[in-house]
Amino acid sequence: MRGQMMEQPLLISSLIRHAEAYHGDTAIVSRALEGGIHRYTWGEAAVRARQLANALLGLGVGPGDRVGTLAWNGYRHLEAYYAISGVEAVCHTINPRLFAEQIVYIINHAEDRVLMFDLTFLPLIAQIRPQLTTVRHFVLMSDREHLPRPVSNDEVLCYEDLVASHSDSFEWPAFDEDTAAGLCYTSGTTGSPKGVLYSHRSTVLHALASSLPDSLHVSAESCIMPVVPMFHVNGWGLPYSCAMNGAKLVLPGAKMDAVNLFELIESEEVTMAAGVPTIWLMLLQHCEQNHLRIRSLKRVIVGGAAAPESMIEQLAEHGVELRQLWGMTELSPCGTTSTPKFHHRDLDREAMCRLHMRQGRPIYGVDIRIVDDGGLPLPHDGKAFGNLQVRGPWVLAQYFRQEAASPAHTADGWFNTGDVSTIDPDGYMKITDRTKDVIKSGGEWISSIDLENIMVGHPAVAEAAAIGIEHPKWDERPLMVVVLKPGAAAAREELLAFFGGKIAKWWTPDDVVIVNELPHTATGKLQKMRLREMFRDYRWPQA
Ligand code: ADP
Repeated sequence: MRGQMMEQPLLISSLIRHAEAYHGDTAIVSRALEGGIHRYTWGEAAVRARQLANALLGLGVGPGDRVGTLAWNGYRHLEAYYAISGVEAVCHTINPRLFAEQIVYIINHAEDRVLMFDLTFLPLIAQIRPQLTTVRHFVLMSDREHLPRPVSNDEVLCYEDLVASHSDSFEWPAFDEDTAAGLCYTSGTTGSPKGVLYSHRSTVLHALASSLPDSLHVSAESCIMPVVPMFHVNGWGLPYSCAMNGAKLVLPGAKMDAVNLFELIESEEVTMAAGVPTIWLMLLQHCEQNHLRIRSLKRVIVGGAAAPESMIEQLAEHGVELRQLWGMTELSPCGTTSTPKFHHRDLDREAMCRLHMRQGRPIYGVDIRIVDDGGLPLPHDGKAFGNLQVRGPWVLAQYFRQEAASPAHTADGWFNTGDVSTIDPDGYMKITDRTKDVIKSGGEWISSIDLENIMVGHPAVAEAAAIGIEHPKWDERPLMVVVLKPGAAAAREELLAFFGGKIAKWWTPDDVVIVNELPHTATGKLQKMRLREMFRDYRWPQA
């Protein structure tokens, strides 16, 4: 027997329609790239998104066409999110922090037909334009005053002119909810960047589940600032979940430094903000140096990399709760959050801190498990660690334009995350490594992340990376590569002794090497592959 309820496709346009109808007066505040603060409402954003939708149709954008954006967190980017997917095209957010040749590869691979970009990226566009084979229209997301001179209309179109010259009379069309809506490429730490193609259904379901109190807790009572860029996995879905819930939205533009972020938090009374650990380290340092207190902020969501213990403690001193978020581009991105359970309510500060150092438990819709190298499921006892696999309605099924069956998927339909983790009986997952970074010593695994977390706790250490180096007896043993803080000094023996009592003895690195810097990707992630290459000829002291 079938249910007898209305059938309505889950479309992204329903989010902006809802925000316009029931939260029309709620503010959206952006730090404008032209300078100053731009202020309007969800109601006005919806009107301009409809004008832009008409403009896109005028440029010949049709169903399935990819429209690229190279833009920061700002109101025009928000309008583009809704207008592009609303006309059944695909909003392809491009990460400008990648190397120019990767950006060219991504735009050509996606076959973007229109490219919309912020003022900041004018020089980049001028540089790469000759290599872009599919783009027919370039749109500068600014006003006429900021168009490059001499103005030539067929070279670069002006966003504000496009919006102003089109009516807002437009009905968001209805279509199949499985239609593609967004495209985001992984950063490509291994091989070429791969495209993840989100659907309307996956995006709306992800917005619903990630809004829940145990997920990101998005509400009309909140003022939310995504510091995570909108070119990075849809700003963790916040541009969608804030519309769904009618939250006040604060978009920090290109100035993501501590002074500007602190000022926005204070002036707009931001209650929740989301971003990678580096951002919060920067902000906390700024507060400490200038004796500032964070007042309105109640919660920060930290993801993309593990949140260090000291950050959790320092935020708590400001009265700010930290929630760790684990996710991936392939997961839209939300997978787990570290929200405590009822029975954790009496945990003391230290135990609560330990809880938040785990990446968290699955939000509804996401299933997780760990398996050994043979694919056999491992117990959720908080001790066994293995390859982390996930499944769910907003988890990638196949990379964009990849013809062959996905090697990242198991025969029974799970996605291999490439992370190694434990899962405890309460369901809290803790990342111990990336699959390719785990150190295999005598048939046992050693977590490079645990070693690094301990090493950066040493007062002289600025950055640390642990890698497995071939060993005649144990297959591999851990080598610690360390960058010291400016002006600091520490001997090898002192650094090795620092592990004493903190981990099982056999986990202790066999050697520490001090270097001036560690290799990073364009997005600032540690490049372990490069590091392993750099130490290919390394020999153990005793060997
Ligand atoms: P992101 O854009 O969030 O970095 P990517 O898809 O580029 O997403 O990278 C995802 C990877 O980042 C994960 O597989 C994991 O290794 C790492 N990661 C994400 N969140 C966390 C976290 N909270 N703690 C530790 N590692 C994380």
